[in-house]
Order: sequence, then structure tokens, then C-alpha cells
Amino acid sequence: MKLLEHEGKTIFKKYGIEVPEGAVVSSADDVDVSKDVVVKAQVLVGGRGKAGGIKFASSDVKEVVNSVLKLEIKGEKVKEVLVEEKLDIEQEIYLAVAVDRNAKCLTLLYSEEGGVDIEQLAVSSPDKVLKIPIKDNNAFDKLPEDIKPVAEKLYRISKDLDAELVEINPLVKCKGKLVAADSKIIIDDNALFRHPEFSKKENLTEIEKLAVRSGLQYVELKGNIAIIGNGAGLVMATLDILDYFGGRPANFLDIGGGASVEKMEKALGIILMKKPKAVFINIFGGITRCDDIASGLINYVKSKGITIPMVVRLIGTNEEEGKKILNDNNISSLDSMEECAKKVVELVR
Ligand code: GDP
Ligand code: MN
Repeated sequence: MKLLEHEGKTIFKKYGIEVPEGAVVSSADDVDVSKDVVVKAQVLVGGRGKAGGIKFASSDVKEVVNSVLKLEIKGEKVKEVLVEEKLDIEQEIYLAVAVDRNAKCLTLLYSEEGGVDIEQLAVSSPDKVLKIPIKDNNAFDKLPEDIKPVAEKLYRISKDLDAELVEINPLVKCKGKLVAADSKIIIDDNALFRHPEFSKKENLTEIEKLAVRSGLQYVELKGNIAIIGNGAGLVMATLDILDYFGGRPANFLDIGGGASVEKMEKALGIILMKKPKAVFINIFGGITRCDDIASGLINYVKSKGITIPMVVRLIGTNEEEGKKILNDNNISSLDSMEECAKKVVELVR
């Protein structure tokens, strides 16, 4: 998932990277400056400068904002523009932290000749673009002294956000300071579930929105067997095994590590909103305690009078206690995932 320039710059600012003063507007009426500014189309496609999406203005800011808001850049309509103080650029630097899939690590990319032609430069003079795999902290020492702290911040951002790319092009030398004049951040889509702050931008279903607010990792699917598991890997495996035995999952729900009785109750509330035909609960207790899961389950079932069939696997921390709570309430559990999957598929036949 790509972030817009202004979203990236908000993140840069939070991490202490200098960015120009500016504001996002969607109408010329919202503009109240008439000094030297840059008006920048907020679109996700690259190369805006060359496509006319970057314009300078001074007394005519409103007109320029209007003209940029009318543009369509490489098929993407401009809905917002960023109006920023114009920088007096002494040098344009390229700096990025990117995933190098071949080297299986994050890599620093740096060039003293940044700007809009960096792609061409990388092809025509590859030696002018430094590539440093980040295997340890020494990687940063290979950069010029003043660049190093900025690179370390980009690295922090890419780790914190699970980004495939965190790029500043150009990083501008201006009055003795380094200022990020542009931003490009791409979050790994496979990690978006860990960053609910960005998922609001996606088209979440009503149930998914509720789940985000409850701190649950939930994805609505099309089947009729609801799933609760702990750990994204285990939940994925649960979906797979269900599919293998011919079942159709109604959702993905990772209740997370160390889930409490209350969280289990919340999770049940969420998965039952889709009115599934059966529920498959697959918990591997580590930090999560099986007795907490069992208590949450029984509390919920009793208080709401739930009669929908459930297949439960509880393994690990406080397994015996958990199974006893279930048994005392006439819910049986199975130890093998295969058995569970087969049984729950039979139940919905
Ligand atoms: P991109 O084309 O989408 O990458 O947009 P950028 O934000 O990188 O802007 C493209 C180019 O416009 C930069 O490489 C700069 O040369 C120029 N530019 C952007 N902001 C400023 C500014 O504040 N002052 C000056 N002088 N040039 C700027
Ligand atoms: Mn740029």
C-alpha cells in the first residue's frame, strides 16, 4: 500500500526528519498564503514533476492550486494538493531504505545526484547510486556523517511500519539543513493487519471496522465456518486445513498473544455477526492461557444463549484447566487439527 506524499511527510516529521512547512487543501478557497510556494498534486503515481503535477506559485497561489486540482496525472484525478514553502535547493540527494528480496534484507540506497532523473542515473551510472545492505549498524557508517542520522530514521520507519520502501527523493540541502522535499512510503500489504491505522483507507466491511476497534485482526471471508485462532500463522494454517477438507471459512480472526477472557468474548461477538453455521476455535496456548479462552467461550455462550455447534482445539498453557472448563459445560475438545477440521466440515453438511 502506497502512502501519499503528505502522509509520508507526517510520518517523517514524527520521526524527527525535517520537512517543509505546508498544508493539504482540496479547494482554492482553503488557501491563505501568497508567498513563494510549491503546489504539489497528491497522487500515488510517480513522476508528478515531469507530468505537470508540481508547480511553483507566489501571488497567484489560488489560481495555481485550481489548475493543479483540475489535472489528471497518468489516469489519476487530483483531489488534493500540498501547498508548501518553496525551498532554495543547493543539492538534491536520493536516500532510501528498501527491501532487497534477493539479499533478504533491508538495503540503504544513496546518491548525491538525486531528483527526478534518479531512475535514469541508476541505469546510466549505477556507480553513482550506493547500495548498502543493512546487515549490522556498520552499514550506516558508510554514509556521509550528515546523512547518517536521516538514514537511521528511515530505517526505524521501515521497521516500525513494515515498509517495502521508505524513500526521500529529493532530500534537499537547504541553508545548511537537510529537508525531505518529497516522500514515498510503501507498506507491505501482507503486514497491513498489523497497522490498523492505515487500514481505514481500505474498503473495510462493517464487521471489519468493528474488529479493528476491538483490537482484533479480522478479515471477512465468504464461507460459513467461523474461525478463531491465535497467531496469524496458526490461523492461516487453520484456514488451509479447513479448505483441504472441503470447508469454507467465514473469516480470518487472530485473537493475538495473551488474549484475555474479555477479548475472547469480543472475538466471539465479532465472528458470530456473520451468522456462520459452525465455529472452529484453534488455540495454541503460549502466553495465551487455555483456561482464559475456555472461560471467555463459556461466559459468552451462556450469557447469549448460543447454540451454534463449536469445535475446539486447546493446546498448551493451562490446557487441562481449559479442557475441564469446557467439559463441565458440555463442550468437547479435540487435540488434532485434522480431526477438528473434519468434524466441523461434517457439522455444516
Ligand atoms: P516527483 O516528481 O513526484 O518525484 O515530485 P518531487 O516532490 O520530488 O518534485 C520534483 C522536483 O521538483 C524535485 O526534484 C525538485 O527539483 C523540484 N522541487 C520540489 N520541491 C521544490 C522546492 O521546494 N523548491 C525547488 N526549488 N524545487 C522543488
Ligand atoms: Mn520525488
